[in-house]
Amino acid sequence: MTSPASSAALETRALAAQQRAYAPYSKFRVGAALQMNGELFDGANIENASYGLCMCAERVAIFAGALAGKRDLEAVAVCTDASPPSSPCGACRQVLLEFAADPAAVTVTAINPKGERRSWTLAQLIPDGFSGRELP
Ligand SMILES: [Zn+2]
Repeated sequence: MTSPASSAALETRALAAQQRAYAPYSKFRVGAALQMNGELFDGANIENASYGLCMCAERVAIFAGALAGKRDLEAVAVCTDASPPSSPCGACRQVLLEFAADPAAVTVTAINPKGERRSWTLAQLIPDGFSGRELP
């Protein structure tokens, strides 16, 4: 496992990614940045007039990492305007878990532009989560 990028670097990228969100309906702009196999990937939420097709920032970022061939999630930062900062939704927690060899070693940090911060491990956010280890 590559050592995680500095939390500050991930947070800076998440903050910048938030500016690229496409959220004309909810106005709830989300930016994410994460590290997979030592590389950083960004995401922002992308909404659709057909609401069920909206996609979260965290999944945009991890899908970009997966598409680049990365498989080992190491750290995540998420930026919203919420106070306190919002944690990832349940769907994103499940998708993040898919790429976390050790969920207890993956730090998830939530921030907002005011500088507030909350932090967990992925294991704390999705305890006893379903994984491929349970499939035959
Ligand atoms: Zn989500």
